[in-house]
Amino acid sequence: MTGGMGGSWSPFVFFPLMFELTFQELSVGVVGVALVFVCGAVWISRWSNGNAERRGVRFRLVCRLCRHVWEDRSRERYPVCPSCGADNRRRRRPRPW
Ligand SMILES: [Zn+2]
Repeated sequence: MTGGMGGSWSPFVFFPLMFELTFQELSVGVVGVALVFVCGAVWISRWSNGNAERRGVRFRLVCRLCRHVWEDRSRERYPVCPSCGADNRRRRRPRPW
C-alpha cells in the first residue's frame, strides 16, 4: 500500500521520470519567461518614461521675465511666453557674465 500520489489512475505512473523532467523544465521555463516578461515590461516602461521626460525637458522653456514654465515644440527661434507675452530668445548657452 503506497497511498497518496501513486494511484493507478494517475498518468504520472506511466512515465514518471520523463514527466518529472519535462515538468521541471516547464516550471523553470514558465518562471523564466515570466521573469523576462516582467523585466522587459519594467525596462520598457522606464525607457519610455525617461524618453518622455527627456523630450519634455528638451522642449521646456522658462520665461526670463516672469519665470513661467511651458513647453514649446514649435522650434521657433523667438518663442513668446504665453503668460506675459515676453520674447524669449533661445540661447545655446548662458551669457558669460
Ligand atoms: Zn513670461
